[in-house]
Amino acid sequence: MAITTTLAGRATSAELPRLIFGDRWDYDPAPESADPRIAPSYDLFIGGRFVPSAEGESFDSINPADEGVLTRIARANAADVDAAYAAADKAYARVWRKTSPRDRGKHLFRVSRLLQERAREFAVAESMDGGKPIRESRDFDLPMAAAHFFHYAGWADKFAYAVPGARVEPLGVVGQVIPWNFPLLMLAWKLAPALATGNCVVLKPAETTSVTAMKFAEILNEAEIPPGVVNIVTGGGETGRLVVNHPKAAKIAFTGSTEVGREIMRSSAGSGKKLTLELGGKAANIVFADAAMDQAVEGIINGIFFNQGHVCCAGSRLLVQETVAEEIIERLKHRLAVLRVGNPLDKNTDIGAINSRAQLDRIEELVADGEREGAAKYQPACALPERGWYYPPTLFTGVTQSHRIAREEIFGPVLSVLTFRTPEEALAKANNTCYGLSAGVWTEKGSLILKMARGLRAGVVWANTFNQFDPASPFGGYKESGFGREGGLQGIFEYVKTV
Ligand code: NAP
Ligand code: MG
Repeated sequence: MAITTTLAGRATSAELPRLIFGDRWDYDPAPESADPRIAPSYDLFIGGRFVPSAEGESFDSINPADEGVLTRIARANAADVDAAYAAADKAYARVWRKTSPRDRGKHLFRVSRLLQERAREFAVAESMDGGKPIRESRDFDLPMAAAHFFHYAGWADKFAYAVPGARVEPLGVVGQVIPWNFPLLMLAWKLAPALATGNCVVLKPAETTSVTAMKFAEILNEAEIPPGVVNIVTGGGETGRLVVNHPKAAKIAFTGSTEVGREIMRSSAGSGKKLTLELGGKAANIVFADAAMDQAVEGIINGIFFNQGHVCCAGSRLLVQETVAEEIIERLKHRLAVLRVGNPLDKNTDIGAINSRAQLDRIEELVADGEREGAAKYQPACALPERGWYYPPTLFTGVTQSHRIAREEIFGPVLSVLTFRTPEEALAKANNTCYGLSAGVWTEKGSLILKMARGLRAGVVWANTFNQFDPASPFGGYKESGFGREGGLQGIFEYVKTV
């Protein structure tokens, strides 16, 4: 302790461990050992039962940490998607529509509790399937997913009172398509409000991360959700297209890329389907000179390296006030050097595996473009595992607004640093994007926070924090980040009509 205190006076936090423990200082491996209980194969979940796909097609689900095959998953074709919609239609007309709001709430409370009971097993499965660090799936994805069901379970018998003087009705059967970055959490964001309000669902998880959705199907049965209320069809983009274009869908809820969002808007035009789109982002994280520096640096790190940067609201564009830019960049470099990249199942890992080979290729392409366009790249010395898909934490300085790395979503652990002098310049630069999902502001001045929050064209603005979520808080975009809100009371209105 005495040594630590003496050294702490002279050394930066990055140097401290080496000074105390010498060059061979390192963590012992701390692998999570709970059994994820992943079956050797998964069929489709239709009408409350696991059924093989009509044409018997299936695909491998890969563990991005070591490229090993985790399980085989059925691929749904047109006949399967038809069967899923038929089961949902039947369950809606015969059962769920007539189930009292109070009973719907009870079912959802049960789902939430079962998720909590099996949280550890689900967290391991999520990390193995998607590559995210176990610490994140354990402390964020699972508790948040359970919290969403808990939150909307509470709304089930109350939301009708939120619209006085009108009757509130479910839409019917809804089609939902979700991405690979938060597989179980996105499932919870989609299913909880839809079911609480009395809709039935056909859901398609992403091809690279379907395992926890199939495990969740077991929970639906354990919670005695009536057969057909939720149907899960697995497969790739083609299966997604079948889900969103199905004539029985009264509404489509989609989270994913802006490009596919555009296609869905075109194909659903004139169909009368209600639509919510949660698409990409290129958030500005704005740091003023008076900000609490230690907290701001941690917030920047969390903002971009959380979940390997596979986050639509990631703080991927750092805007720093010019007078403190040098200091912040120096501190960030130290912080990057102590981030631990590697085995997602190790409890000490900060950055896990990149979700797929395709996503790693995209990150590499964008980083190469950043260098080609003249930005300066910094990557700490960092040994990556030999097998699996990994990318080191990366920081670009000398970035201008026209650089591709400042405009396009990289969806990886790559931060672009820009500078500004005045709040007006920060606002202009932050809003100079086709996206508008989230933003962050770091300053000790309350009035400045309010000015920035009003001026930023983003669905969520965090002040002196980043990546904070709560089921009661609505989330969604401006501009090409999409429309519609998920979470809170606002999330309810996306799944009902008033008559
Ligand atoms: P994506 O292609 O839009 O995938 C999202 C979901 O839509 C997946 O379930 C996907 O299935 C499905 N899908 C693909 N093509 C479809 C189509 N034509 N019709 C209906 N559904 C379709 O996104 P991605 O390939 O996962 O990622 C690409 C980029 O999207 C990322 O680099 C990132 O910029 C953005 N993204 C944003 C978010 C977000 O939360 N806003 C999340 C993930 C990705 P398959 O996965 O099985 O192909
Ligand atoms: Mg996988």
